[in-house]
Amino acid sequence: MFRTDVQDVPTGTEPTGAEPFDVAVIGGGPAGLATALRLQAAGLSTAVLEAHGHAGGCAGYFRKRGFSFDVGATTLVDFAPGGVGFELLRSVGMNPLDTRELPGYVAHLPDREVVLHRDPARWHAERRRTLGDTGPHRQLWSLIDRLARTFWRASRAGVRLPVRGPADALHDLRALGPTGVPLARYLNWTLGDALRRYGLRDDLALVGLLAMLVEDTVHATVDDAPLINAALGVTIRGAGLSRHAGGMHGFWRALVTHYRGLGGRLRTGCAVSRIDGEPGAYRVSTRRGAIGARRIVAAVPAATTAAICAGLPVAARLRPYLERDAPALGGACVVFLGVPEDEVRGQEFTHHQFLQSYDRPLGEGNNMFVSVSEPGDTLSAPPEHRAVMISTHTELAEWEGLDELEYEQRKKWIGELLVGCARRAYPSLGQRAVFAATGTPRSYERFGFRPGGAVGGVRQHLRNTNQHAVPHDLGGRGLWLVGDSTWPGLGTVACVLGSRIVAEGMLRERGFNR
Ligand SMILES: Cc1cc2nc3c(=O)[nH]c(=O)nc-3n(C[C@H](O)[C@H](O)[C@H](O)COP(=O)(O)OP(=O)(O)OC[C@H]3O[C@@H](n4cnc5c(N)ncnc54)[C@H](O)[C@@H]3O)c2cc1C
Repeated sequence: MFRTDVQDVPTGTEPTGAEPFDVAVIGGGPAGLATALRLQAAGLSTAVLEAHGHAGGCAGYFRKRGFSFDVGATTLVDFAPGGVGFELLRSVGMNPLDTRELPGYVAHLPDREVVLHRDPARWHAERRRTLGDTGPHRQLWSLIDRLARTFWRASRAGVRLPVRGPADALHDLRALGPTGVPLARYLNWTLGDALRRYGLRDDLALVGLLAMLVEDTVHATVDDAPLINAALGVTIRGAGLSRHAGGMHGFWRALVTHYRGLGGRLRTGCAVSRIDGEPGAYRVSTRRGAIGARRIVAAVPAATTAAICAGLPVAARLRPYLERDAPALGGACVVFLGVPEDEVRGQEFTHHQFLQSYDRPLGEGNNMFVSVSEPGDTLSAPPEHRAVMISTHTELAEWEGLDELEYEQRKKWIGELLVGCARRAYPSLGQRAVFAATGTPRSYERFGFRPGGAVGGVRQHLRNTNQHAVPHDLGGRGLWLVGDSTWPGLGTVACVLGSRIVAEGMLRERGFNR
């Protein structure tokens, strides 16, 4: 799985004596490429060094037998006009993407179905009908909606966290606006606190649904998930989920083409092993040679940054964060199916989420997400066929220390479990699959270069996010960190927001040895 399709720009070593790049971006996932695009569009010379055979990372794809499967992210978030993603496209001079907004998706709870409509009025009616319409329900949703409205607006205004000085504080006050500032008092609340305040912590269906939504977006339980982050996660549909024509393959084709058109250099199959030097004169070593760069953007997991920057101050500064966050790492398993069209026909929505049991912890198949490519999307699947991705979270410890046989057995078990659960919506799914494979933490480690197979950033709680998140400028002048290890964490929208903070921060270092 995750086959390496080497099809991007040829790789190579800079000729000896070549002018250094203004910025070397390590990692060509969403965070790295978005940051490189912004800096290149602002007039800096940039190179993206990507270990895999093409850009994409955990939001990438692989191709097999005429199908293109998304390896992790299947949806883009907030790319509609006014959104965080749209701001990226506009600021780098890119045309709107060829995307289709999802009208919503279906959450299948153990005892009911809830349609998560994108349209706010339909969603409000649906949640009243399916989850309860008592005074406490209305008060809870009103609080979540108010927080979401304010903090989505602040995100779109480029709010910066963690606050690193008076300039950030002032910037954030402006982004929050006068009505938003009082809501900052909820910074120390969890979603569980809000549920308890309204006496709803034991409402099985409501808590079950919220738990699924925050696990996917904040990667945490309702009792750990910081309330403001959870409010953003729960309302992510309202911010607009979309799928690109051709899935992530189509998305990356558009992004990479534009980046190259701006003169950016994407070097694939180019794992960075070491960064030495100092601000203004870094040397980036890869297995295909070395390049010089005045500044660095590390758009790889924080553990990778610490390893490749072992001789630089950033490695020591990262250590306390890495130690703190080690127990908060998690993994994912994904089933990829290429199936005949009729196996997925007859559903109004292409995306479904399933909770099997209210009693069991989430993950390992209890909370899974099914994404089906659009009918007629022939970049994703051959005619009359569709690509199906089914994902769930998993504990990394469950995959550690297994011998080959144990590993294959566990992979088979989780694969069959996920397909079996998805048959609640698609009864004959996978019976005549043209292609079937299962990705595990080992796959993310091997093909996504994620240490230990950990994906999705850390499970967020009050002590490791927002003001306590890994700062983007931890490397000091000239070395910036971006991606899902840094604030705001998991997801394409988070990476795009991080890329804005980093690019703006680097451009504020104007005149820096250039
Ligand atoms: C199963 C799953 C489902 C998801 N679903 C969604 C979704 O529907 N919507 C959404 O918005 N998000 C989703 N996400 C999250 C999203 O994929 C991630 O948040 C995002 O990909 C993180 O981007 P990143 O750039 O920080 O890291 P990555 O995507 O991991 O990119 C880092 C890049 O760095 C490269 N790299 C690593 N080490 C080196 C090195 N030494 N030298 C050079 N290159 C290196 C890697 O190959 C990779 O390309 C999902 C994630 C998973 C795992």
